[in-house]
Amino acid sequence: MFKKDTCPLCGGKKKSGKSTFTVNLGEGVLVVREVPALVCNQCGEDWIEDKVASRSEDLTNEARKKHLQVEVAAFA
Ligand SMILES: [Zn+2]
Repeated sequence: MFKKDTCPLCGGKKKSGKSTFTVNLGEGVLVVREVPALVCNQCGEDWIEDKVASRSEDLTNEARKKHLQVEVAAFA
């Protein structure tokens, strides 16, 4: 059985770190940097934490209003 802090892909360890994720807005792309996430120390796969979801929704809505092709936002 996999433990909660074990990577399901490679069996490496998940560690708290920062990740970058992108959201497809249809007319553009939002890139959010410095997002708190769990990152595998072996294969680099990342998992965004649940509490991050509402914040990233705000950023997505803001980016949509700007109608830019590419928007880059820092999470913090
Ligand atoms: Zn892994």
